[in-house]
Amino acid sequence: MTGPLVRRLCLIGVGLIGGSWVRALRGAGQVGQVVGCGRTPENLERAVSLGVIDSYALDPAEAVQEADLVVVAVPLGAMAAVFRRIAPALAPDAVVTDVGSAKGTVIADARAELGSRLPDFVPGHPIAGTEKSGVEASFPDLFRGRRVILTPLDETRAEAVERVRAVWQVAGAVVSSMDARHHDDVLAATSHLPHVLAYGLVDSLSRWSDRDEIFQYAAGGFRDFTRIASSDPVMWRDICLANHEALTDALERYTADLQLLMEAVRARDGEQLMTVFQNARRARERFLAMLES
Ligand code: NAP
Repeated sequence: MTGPLVRRLCLIGVGLIGGSWVRALRGAGQVGQVVGCGRTPENLERAVSLGVIDSYALDPAEAVQEADLVVVAVPLGAMAAVFRRIAPALAPDAVVTDVGSAKGTVIADARAELGSRLPDFVPGHPIAGTEKSGVEASFPDLFRGRRVILTPLDETRAEAVERVRAVWQVAGAVVSSMDARHHDDVLAATSHLPHVLAYGLVDSLSRWSDRDEIFQYAAGGFRDFTRIASSDPVMWRDICLANHEALTDALERYTADLQLLMEAVRARDGEQLMTVFQNARRARERFLAMLES
């Protein structure tokens, strides 16, 4: 009889993403023991009572003892300190992966801190999430049918990549690989830019003098457009700082197009507005069809 895919999983950062991955593995019967790690006992006690983790340690070096898979699911700004702490304590057969939303800085942190264990590190990013945070918000189907991008280094062991791929597949994810730089460019456009726009819009409106009336009459469109402005500010600050080059580029391109749109509105150029809106609608329909295929 073969055992589960992961004998002992150490989850550092027991929140939405890490918690959801573990729940999916548990549902599939593909994980033995799960040890959590976080900054204070409160969240970890909650995670034990929710059945996400079996036990916990506050020191990452202690938490990774004997783990064959270590998942680092903390905000990007906290990755380096975790890598530094775990590097000397990893079991010989341990594979380490992360779920960070930008890959360039995580890889730089891993190169600086993981030392001889760098070949056992598989950088990863699930393209799934919600605007909610914390272990209470985690659910096992979060990754079903969703993409996960792995951005292995030249040094990464092929077997380590295959293990992480297999563990994501158990959660129902569609796994692909990509160069980290390309990942950060693509995600700047499709994820990081929209989050900055949503935060920026709500912040701006909230400071207009008639804001109460604005929010009182806001309807479904406003709610849809701004949903992601309810996301965790710390996480998104870290993502913007980590991917600042690609994000600045995306913001510049978008600002130039927005400027043109403003000129069209000011000039009451209906033809230009129709061109933009029709093109956008067609592009969105293609995008939705792609998601469904
Ligand atoms: P989350 O729900 O807030 O969980 C993160 C956990 O990390 C927290 O529960 C917290 O647990 C711990 N943590 C927070 N700050 C820390 C620090 N400074 N040092 C050590 N631990 C800390 O966040 P999440 O949405 O799961 O995001 C985790 C990672 O996934 C991030 O790197 C993010 O970029 C990436 N990601 C997020 C999404 C998304 O849509 N949410 C999607 C894809 C990838 P304790 O309170 O127990 O310390």
